[in-house]
Amino acid sequence: MSLPAIDLLDLDSLLDEEEQQIRAVVRRLVDDRVRPYVADWYERGEVPARELAREFGKLGLLGMHLTGYGCAGSSAVAYGLACLELEAGDSGVRSLVSVQGSLAMYAIWRYGSEEQKQRWLPPMAAGEAIGCFGLTEPDHGSDPASMATRARRDGDDWVLTGGKMWITNAPVADVAVIWARAEEGVRGFTVPLDTPGVTTREIRRKMSLRASVTGEISLDDVRLPADALLPEAAGLKAPLSCLTEARFGIVWGALGAARDCLETTLRYATTRTQFGRPIAGFQLTQAKLADMAVEWQKGYLLALHLGRLADSGGLRPEQVSVGKLNNVREALAIARKCRTILGANGVSGEYPVMRHGDNLESVLTYEGTSEIHQLVIGQRLTGVSAFT
Ligand code: FAD
Repeated sequence: MSLPAIDLLDLDSLLDEEEQQIRAVVRRLVDDRVRPYVADWYERGEVPARELAREFGKLGLLGMHLTGYGCAGSSAVAYGLACLELEAGDSGVRSLVSVQGSLAMYAIWRYGSEEQKQRWLPPMAAGEAIGCFGLTEPDHGSDPASMATRARRDGDDWVLTGGKMWITNAPVADVAVIWARAEEGVRGFTVPLDTPGVTTREIRRKMSLRASVTGEISLDDVRLPADALLPEAAGLKAPLSCLTEARFGIVWGALGAARDCLETTLRYATTRTQFGRPIAGFQLTQAKLADMAVEWQKGYLLALHLGRLADSGGLRPEQVSVGKLNNVREALAIARKCRTILGANGVSGEYPVMRHGDNLESVLTYEGTSEIHQLVIGQRLTGVSAFT
């Protein structure tokens, strides 16, 4: 299966057969299980997260780039392609998979004890258990080092107090990976969400990522056994490494949203007639389409380059920042430009373009805002940190 008409550079030829097959399987799943329903989920601000998680689990999409414990052990490029296809359906659906696999599962897989891995990873890979990742707080977003959530020891137990905000999957999750400040620094904990003292509340009235469940987690003297601690996670670099994993998926995912906008717009522009001819025939429309197709292909080459680096074991966080900054920014610009070509229909939920654009506003902010990625790149270029 080849990419649509926007593949001017024969980018398909850069993928091997297995990568193309994985892409085809995920694309079919999105066509069958997401595309026909997502406009309605979006309008209602609801998504059948458990049902989708089980279906994604059956296909091996949850934690697909991890090895062992029921995970598929796919390449980074295959994982990226899956994210692209999922986000061509909706960024919220891709977020469900990213948070489960790259944030919650990765944290346990990378930093957990053998018992924690055995307990949580197989059901999470199967989509039978849903995970979330609590780093952001009401007063601490871009600056997680200032987090107010505290973990204190009480005998062998740990006691957590504080609150997390804007947590994807929280209202439907079984387990949260919670980051809290202990005496010795930032530590991570696996927190079953039915633990006494934990409450979740869904955040409603989002104007973006409406096909994704987002919530708040309150931790009121939550008592956890000693084995809830992720033993290998010491310091803020642990949650930041999880974010690097998830951002890699976003580098690809944003291209999926942009591709769906472009495909929709190409179909629209060639059939919509004004002044007696298809609007695709106007030079101003063609200039927009050409610029968008060029940006999309540049973004794809960037994602693929980062994927190949990851697969050869050499991907650095600031390289992921380059990808996230560029691809989300360009995807959003593409969504906005596509919307203009659809005219009034561009603001209608009958077409996916404005939904993708609205979703990308969240994608621009979460997993490090554009400004934070600029600062990461700036620090690498100059050797000077602008953070502190
Ligand atoms: P702030 O940090 O308050 O930033 C506000 C503005 O100030 C931004 O433009 C920012 O770039 C700018 N700014 C801040 N510091 C600087 C600086 N030093 N220099 C220049 N500009 C600066 N978090 C989780 O932990 N888990 C999740 O699952 C999760 N899911 C999310 C889902 C959605 C739909 C959304 C919208 C957010 C989610 N988040 C999640 C939170 C997200 O990661 C944060 O919103 C993000 O880190 C930004 O934090 P903030 O919103 O507090 O903004």
